[in-house]
Amino acid sequence: MSEDTIFHKIIRREIPAEVVYEDEHLIAFRDIAPQAPVHVLFVPKETLATLNDLPDDRPEIVGRLAVAAARYAKAQGLAEKGYRIVMNCNPDAGQTVYQLHLHLLAGAPLGRFGTPG
Ligand code: AMP
Repeated sequence: MSEDTIFHKIIRREIPAEVVYEDEHLIAFRDIAPQAPVHVLFVPKETLATLNDLPDDRPEIVGRLAVAAARYAKAQGLAEKGYRIVMNCNPDAGQTVYQLHLHLLAGAPLGRFGTPG
């Protein structure tokens, strides 16, 4: 598994990012090309290229991302109006960075999603 994605470099502080949260398990930072007024990425520090690589006995890796995203949304006053979390897996979903991550999108009504093409 590659430990040389751009997100690994952010975790190692080799390139800058606007970090909004970090603990021993994960880091959260603003997306460089936001698709909504609030667009934050939650990334585990453990190397996992895609959701397909999540071990059956390690659901907490994704659980922690979801908990951190919900906590962030609540702290930012976004939770009542709503938000979307997204994980893209492999090319048909448009995954571009092959280190597992969860997108948090919020701050405006969001369009529908999931249509082919
Ligand atoms: P995905 O398409 O699900 O793989 O999402 C990868 C996301 O990473 C995209 O939304 C990019 O805009 C974002 N991204 C790429 N490079 C950086 C970076 N250096 N800092 C912050 N976000 C980035």
